[in-house]
Amino acid sequence: MAAGVRLVVLGKQGAGKGTQCVRLSHRYAVPHISTGDMLRAAVRAQTPLGIEAESLMSTGELLPDELITRMVDERLTERDATTRGFILDGYPRTVVQATMLEEIVAARPLHCVVNLDVPTDLVLQRLVSRRTCVDCGSIYSTSEPPVQRWLCDVCGGEVVQRPDDTAEAIMTRLQAYERETLPLIDFYLERGLLETIDGSRTPDEVLKSTVEVVERRKKEHG
Ligand code: AMP
Repeated sequence: MAAGVRLVVLGKQGAGKGTQCVRLSHRYAVPHISTGDMLRAAVRAQTPLGIEAESLMSTGELLPDELITRMVDERLTERDATTRGFILDGYPRTVVQATMLEEIVAARPLHCVVNLDVPTDLVLQRLVSRRTCVDCGSIYSTSEPPVQRWLCDVCGGEVVQRPDDTAEAIMTRLQAYERETLPLIDFYLERGLLETIDGSRTPDEVLKSTVEVVERRKKEHG
């Protein structure tokens, strides 16, 4: 399987996006670019961006399109992304962002946009029990914790409940998803880029289906 791919992965909070993106990035040897992870790192480091982002993030509101797009644009000009490609996770989240992304990647178009489809009740169940590594973003759950409680199996970082994984912030994020992100399904459908995958199955099954569609798309691109 050839390395390199340019993908956007869409899905509600808790659809298993993060886990799939990490596995896809290893499979295709491309960076996993998660805007949420980048912002959380900025908050921890208390950079000017982190300070600006912190309160909006804690309530589950979206950050301004221009601000987030500048961050993504800068990351996409780094050598790993320009030479091999990228998996975009958490961006775009609005039609304005998707339009800006089209310009950024005009010379290196997306292979496809993977939409991980999971019913809302299952997503809520997953989010409430979700635990996340503060350092590398690896995802665990209360029913499947790291081997050494609560230290990340991958990097040894602390594994905690995200401050925005509270019932209230989860509802705000799901509403933001319905309002702002759902229109992206039609946006990418119209451009012939959308691939919807049933995300309610096991992570291995979801990965298998995703790799199948990505391989087909890569072949079509030539
Ligand atoms: P995530 O880890 O993807 O759930 O992102 C966590 C939070 O970061 C979101 O609830 C937003 O406050 C902010 N965020 C991440 N990506 C974006 C984006 N593309 N547009 C606006 N806000 C974002």
